Amino acid sequence: MRRAEDLDVRGRTVLVRADLNVPLDDRGAITDDGRIRASLPTIRELLDRDAKVIVCAHFGRPKGDDYAARAAGGPSLAPVAARLAELLGRPVPLAADVAGESARAVAGGLADGQVAMLENVRFEPAETSKDDEARGELAGRLAALADLYVGDGFGAMHRKHASVYDTPLLLPRAAGQLVLAEVAVLRQLTTGPARPYVVVLGGAKVSDKLAVIGNLVGKADRLLIAGGMAYTFLAAQGHQTGDSILQEDQIPQVSMALAQAAKAGAEVLLPVDHVVADRFAADAPPEIVPGPDIPDGTMGLDIGPATRELFARKLADAKTVFWNGPPGVFEFPAFAAGTLAVAEAISHVTGLTVVGGGDSAAAVRALGLPADAFTHISTGGGASLEYLEGRDLPGLAALEAGA
Ligand code: ADP
Ligand code: MG
Repeated sequence: MRRAEDLDVRGRTVLVRADLNVPLDDRGAITDDGRIRASLPTIRELLDRDAKVIVCAHFGRPKGDDYAARAAGGPSLAPVAARLAELLGRPVPLAADVAGESARAVAGGLADGQVAMLENVRFEPAETSKDDEARGELAGRLAALADLYVGDGFGAMHRKHASVYDTPLLLPRAAGQLVLAEVAVLRQLTTGPARPYVVVLGGAKVSDKLAVIGNLVGKADRLLIAGGMAYTFLAAQGHQTGDSILQEDQIPQVSMALAQAAKAGAEVLLPVDHVVADRFAADAPPEIVPGPDIPDGTMGLDIGPATRELFARKLADAKTVFWNGPPGVFEFPAFAAGTLAVAEAISHVTGLTVVGGGDSAAAVRALGLPADAFTHISTGGGASLEYLEGRDLPGLAALEAGA
């Protein structure tokens, strides 16, 4: 894969596909700008070398059948462009469209060393279309804005989308620093990790993570399972889960994964106690349940103190750790202790420690742990999981194609 640093960019227009899909609060303020910050090194490096930089990114899930409806409904990338401008310390004008008249005017008006942004690429229905021709048409318009393409949106690399997959194929292309860093770390996890290799999985839904579990049981020495997905595992072992989030239809697959792990000699650790509540709310009074079974009328929202200790012990001698998915509903302070305990235990590990997943990364930042507490905090949840599953990421494949 060619590196952006190896492209001759002086005086040329570079389309940078970034992942700037940051969370907003109810009033539209950015609550975690980690993804914008992670995109800065590549943009800065290109500007320092006098490129004209056009940043392309998606944002949220615009709804509507056509461009007009989506653009009217938003979300606009305006708050992201404003934050990017603040962080870069220079203006970042935002085109009024994605790859239309305004985008062409903005791109054409850039001087060397200047940067601008395109509007939310998902305003274009073709961006996510399954129809190759529709995506190709949009890719043609995007490619026409620039001389070169730099792929740096790691969090979108697992999507066969027009701006991720089709556009790079039309231009001389290279990978940005973020993508190169992500791939280097994930490659270490998949090829000969130092042992013990411990994987911590949490989050809401077990169905999101079954494929990666299947791939990791053969590679990891220990799997610590928590969060909402743990209840489906506990149910598969015959435990009661009360009103906890449970995916009953996944029990057969979960049982299979447990059998697979046993065969591979991987240790699977489930919660041995819980913090429960009578409803899913920040102000619900937390209660500790001292065993694996969850009483009727309550739901598990975090791992309990004994599990926190067990997991910390199982992490203490790790030489490689991959963590994806918060072990509890960390957004509610009363149910954040499990996430904090796991994050702290991992931060004490000497070895390669990787956090993957948008919510997990947000949790780390929300809990105020120093950024250097981990070797690497991945910006790509789905993308890093698919990489670890051993699947080809379309965005990476496009950057590698013929280069
Ligand atoms: P990531 O983005 O890191 O991959 P996920 O998207 O899989 O993580 O899951 C994150 C969500 O899982 C968080 O919003 C968190 O509140 C939720 N979660 C964790 N534990 C539980 C639980 N016990 N019950 C319900 N939701 C949970
Ligand atoms: Mg998530």
